[in-house]
Amino acid sequence: MTSHRFDDTHELLAIHHDPATDLHALIAIHSTRLGPAIGGTRLKWYPSLDAARHDVLRLSEGMTYKTALAGLSLGGGKAVIPYFSEAEGAEWAIPEIRAARLIAYAQIVDNLRGRFITAEDANITPGDLAIMKRSTMYVAGLPREEHGSGDPAPVTARGVVWAMKAITQDAFGSSSLDGLHVAVQGLGNVGMRLVPTLLAEGASVTAADVRPELAIAANRDFGIATVEPDALFETHCDVFAPCAYGAVLNSTTIPRLRCRAVVGSANNQLDEEAAGELLHARSILYGVDYVANAGGLINVAQELAPDGYDEAAALKKTENIYHTMQRVLTTARDRRISTTMAAQYMAREVLLAPVA
Ligand code: NAD
Repeated sequence: MTSHRFDDTHELLAIHHDPATDLHALIAIHSTRLGPAIGGTRLKWYPSLDAARHDVLRLSEGMTYKTALAGLSLGGGKAVIPYFSEAEGAEWAIPEIRAARLIAYAQIVDNLRGRFITAEDANITPGDLAIMKRSTMYVAGLPREEHGSGDPAPVTARGVVWAMKAITQDAFGSSSLDGLHVAVQGLGNVGMRLVPTLLAEGASVTAADVRPELAIAANRDFGIATVEPDALFETHCDVFAPCAYGAVLNSTTIPRLRCRAVVGSANNQLDEEAAGELLHARSILYGVDYVANAGGLINVAQELAPDGYDEAAALKKTENIYHTMQRVLTTARDRRISTTMAAQYMAREVLLAPVA
């Protein structure tokens, strides 16, 4: 039977082309119910315009849930600047072209008059945001030298630790990470900061990165064990911490996990919703990604506070991830559902509640 219902719930999808600079940009606003939509801009290769559209719609909806559960007065949005060939991608390495396109893009953001506030994402740097800031006030995540919130990774890592504490409280009866064994996948900006924080909490760490030089550095600097990336899935541990890229939890990897819980910073860890149910069926507690990794967003959002950025305030708000994760776990238990479903249920409740 054909359905004639238009069931997309986004408020806006705008597809732009600036003829002067040949910039293409897609901006999706999923919800402004709680406030202006916030979301990073990613500059990335896509196989087609359809693929870029799919990504921006999916990611902006995810931002709505993330802001709702982080307790922010912000909604969900996202932007994608796609390129479709290697040659087009290479144009972005030419400083004059890059700057002209960023300014054109900033004007597009500005035309939305604050309905959408953007920040960094893949291949967009704080320096790029500083260029954009000259043409629009609706950017956040600027370098510290420009009174911005700077690199969000340290706060993201701190938030992951709070999420882990809530999960271990539930799984092992204590929020202390002392004596636990954590397998960290990905030693990039977040993973490399997470490792010393976990060690300081008394945990032991095994880690992996597809870039061998990062594994060598972690082994040298922190004295932790490292394994080949694929072997990490089968490492016996208490917590598996995905801090690499998305879709790592799927029907192939989940049966291989030898852990009691999964908590990490990566976005979109589940390749599809069913993966959350698969973890639940294996009694592996899943610390829902957009709850656990909200520290970076909380940090960027702090830049929008009337008094400007304050790191101590951002870190304080990040502590709430512990309580939010506890509520997710309680909701899951009470309703006999997975944590994935529980977090969605909680986010929808926030979105349906009357706005104060
Ligand atoms: P990053 O690119 O600096 O680090 C990712 C690391 O993962 C890289 O070193 C890469 O080599 C490694 N990697 C890729 N595939 C791997 C695999 N199969 N096995 C092991 N290692 C692998 O990124 P980041 O800023 O550290 O962010 C990590 C994740 O957290 C991303 O998914 C990002 O979207 C998410 N996240 C980051 C922040 C932040 O503040 N940076 C905030 C929220 C969410």
